[in-house]
Amino acid sequence: MANDDQFKKVISHAKEYGYVFQSSEIYDGLSAVYDYAQNGVELKKNIRDYWWKAMVQMNENIVGLDAAIFMHPTTWKASGHVDAFSDPLIDNKDSKKRYRADVLVEDYCLKIEAKIEKEVKKAEKRFGEAFNKEEFLSTNGRVVGYQEKIDSILKRLGQSLENEDLADVKALIEELEIACPVAGSRNWTDVKQFNLMFGTKLGASAESAMDLYLRPETAQGIFVNFLNVQKTGRLKIPFGIAQTGKAFRNEIVARQFIFRMREFEQMEMQFFIKPGTQKKWFEHWKETRMKWHLSLGMGADNYRFHDHEKLAHYADAATDIEFKFPFGFKELEGIHSRTDFDLKQHEEFSGKKLQYFDQEDKESYTPYVLETSIGLDRMFLAVFSNALVEEELEDGKTRTVLRLPAVLAPVKAAIFPLLAKDGLPEVAKQIVEDLKWDFNVAYEEKDTVGRRYRRQDANGTPFCITVDHDTLEDNSVTIRHRDTMEQKRVKIEDLKDIIKAEVDVKHWLQRMK
Ligand code: ATP
Repeated sequence: MANDDQFKKVISHAKEYGYVFQSSEIYDGLSAVYDYAQNGVELKKNIRDYWWKAMVQMNENIVGLDAAIFMHPTTWKASGHVDAFSDPLIDNKDSKKRYRADVLVEDYCLKIEAKIEKEVKKAEKRFGEAFNKEEFLSTNGRVVGYQEKIDSILKRLGQSLENEDLADVKALIEELEIACPVAGSRNWTDVKQFNLMFGTKLGASAESAMDLYLRPETAQGIFVNFLNVQKTGRLKIPFGIAQTGKAFRNEIVARQFIFRMREFEQMEMQFFIKPGTQKKWFEHWKETRMKWHLSLGMGADNYRFHDHEKLAHYADAATDIEFKFPFGFKELEGIHSRTDFDLKQHEEFSGKKLQYFDQEDKESYTPYVLETSIGLDRMFLAVFSNALVEEELEDGKTRTVLRLPAVLAPVKAAIFPLLAKDGLPEVAKQIVEDLKWDFNVAYEEKDTVGRRYRRQDANGTPFCITVDHDTLEDNSVTIRHRDTMEQKRVKIEDLKDIIKAEVDVKHWLQRMK
């Protein structure tokens, strides 16, 4: 399948260009754990900064926090994670492979969705310019039938999970005749719940050691600090607390590269609001977060909302922003209206009041919470997989180019001397010295300039700057643009402004307006 090939290319390109490595590779790796290499760490940091800037710096009523990974174990009783943070798992008795029962069903639906896409492509070809996708999706008998099937399967799955009717989840898998992808058989065990939290111990002696969990989400660090931050920051509702950091989940089926990891990073924001205003704020954050995604220019067609049928125990509304990964549309970010569930639970378990006194209305209340939660690693995968393209050139050759949004690219410019002699390296190195105060830049002198261009294209570097013999006379250099491959002669002193105009966060974030 073409998409499988694309995904394989993404994984090998990420390794070859120093973006993502398997953890502990020399020991054959650790399943679903990855390390970010020299370029990956920069791309990840740039994504994190882009989020932080949009969330914290651009909103005067949102502040940051960096809570510890270890938290008092009662936190996880209060939050419901000890009792309910589990996934339904099912084993195939022949292959002995373990699956998430809900994912098996969802994957089945994805296959039906692929059939819809096929019909759309066929119709597009047939009708040409006159093709109206919306109309086609709502009137074509076959497509409508497929969509109804998907809807009814997902509805039943949602209801069975909500009612904890695991026998019905198994029945659904059997009725749909879903087979194990490895064994090909339908010899399934019953569906069971499996808690995803990692346990560890705090303390030196066996008797006094305390059982702890590695946090499975960063949100609870925000809830338990809610009053401290509100009081010391003299914050008035509505206000938000944002944080980025590691989270850990013992995922049953951890595959799809960095899409589902056991150790990953989240970027979360909890927005505290007056009860009764949650609908308005839910819409506000849906729209705002989508604008943030679109500001990166990765194509509006690659995103969609998926409203939840099955709501978590704490939520009164929830939606996912899904992205079109190489393996189909999948959750990238969650937006949840969490009511006062978390603060009330922490009040109950800690015995401490976690209320807000509204000066204007002269009343105390437990705020409601609107949450936006995005996986940094998933965002990395979205950006990276979307950027990697094989491009046909006019001369019939192809080039591999990583069209990363320039604001996120690890290296903003690579500086080359045309030849590694005649004083050209010295001038190129001086340009590096001058530019490195403002941008992450690289110096390269090996191979022909053509090969250096190709390497930087594949690395995602937006600009290449070449110093040649004319530079020594007129202080000008050739600047080449990654996406257009256009080359221009410019003055060395103008380089900083030219690069800044394309990579500056402000230039990109302003598109959110
Ligand atoms: P999924 O249904 O894919 O397991 P989730 O609904 O459990 O995700 P949330 O608990 O809402 O996810 O977490 C918020 C975000 O954190 C997700 O949208 C995703 O981007 C990210 N995330 C969650 N689990 C993982 C993981 N195992 N690896 C990488 N990112 C993750």
